[in-house]
Amino acid sequence: MRDIKNLTRENLEEVCRSRGVPVFHAQQLFEWIYRKRVNDFSLMPNVPVKFREYLKTVFYFSQMDVLKKEVSTDGTVKFLMGLPGGLAVESVLIPEKKRRTLCVSTQAGCKFGCKFCVSGLDGFKRNLTPGEITGQLLAVEKDTGEKVTNIVFMGVGEPLDNFENLMVSIAIFMDNRGFEIGKRKIVISTCGFVPGIDLLAARGAGLRISVSLHSADDKKRSEIMPVNKKYDTGKLMKALKKFYEKEKFAVTFEYVLISGFNSSEKDAAALSMYVKGVPHKLNIIPYNSSDYFQWKAPTGEEIGAFVEILKTRGVFYTIRRPRGRDISAACGQLKAKITS
Ligand code: SAH
Repeated sequence: MRDIKNLTRENLEEVCRSRGVPVFHAQQLFEWIYRKRVNDFSLMPNVPVKFREYLKTVFYFSQMDVLKKEVSTDGTVKFLMGLPGGLAVESVLIPEKKRRTLCVSTQAGCKFGCKFCVSGLDGFKRNLTPGEITGQLLAVEKDTGEKVTNIVFMGVGEPLDNFENLMVSIAIFMDNRGFEIGKRKIVISTCGFVPGIDLLAARGAGLRISVSLHSADDKKRSEIMPVNKKYDTGKLMKALKKFYEKEKFAVTFEYVLISGFNSSEKDAAALSMYVKGVPHKLNIIPYNSSDYFQWKAPTGEEIGAFVEILKTRGVFYTIRRPRGRDISAACGQLKAKITS
């Protein structure tokens, strides 16, 4: 049996063709599943009975269960979602004035091992399927009763290392018979996994990327991000330039500011030089601390001094306000603990 939620509408149209039924039934199936949220072929009366009988023999409907829910004092909500086989991932809902952004996970565990992020501490378990990625949104909307407006692939895992499943989930998120979330409202965050950036550029899908840089100095970056040993800042910039040539919109750089590690004047100067290599936006993220690492969050003064240098060098930036720190829902704090 296959999960019907792993199929794009085009895939479902192929299923229709293979059974000799009109392809508009794919559209109806999509509406039942993603709009009316029906997980039972018997309850889809406009789909021919015989076709439904067939579908029942080959497809099932996956569903994500919310195992735990924690609400931060700032309104951020962290959901622990159970996966088959005792694994779990986290999703974080970030309500703002007009937006309700959902931060989704793409892998159970992470193999990239960044030295400031807890998501990789227990290693990599497996890729999430498209149904498990979109299932996070379905479960969150079911729980809260409100529509998610934006998706950020900034939860556990490296989205570009699960490329095909990521693309299928995005096709379903964007489908106008599905969730109908526009591509401007979707952001893929990457640790700088160059083969994935190349693939994304080749697809020309018009999707936004956000690159976790954290240091423009190869020695320092390799120290905290092992991915840099293989894909250093030079290779990364080359890929980003190619990406820009194809897509023609600015790349976002994320820079987690860690007190006393990448927060010096020299670091700010190197960052300023580096980002100018490609049209960009720059997001400074004060490091969120955890019990697992000895790094320290920067003080307000340190942040001020750092951005002052960016300013004098003509680099624009925003500072990300941490959300959900009290419930360990902020960037780098997602670990998907089932117990406790
Ligand atoms: N693997 C992808 C997706 C995860 S996104 C990526 O690396 O981009 C999570 C974001 O939070 C990244 O920008 C990551 O670098 C950042 N982050 C990780 N740990 C952090 C921490 N302790 N404090 C602040 N930001 C952190």
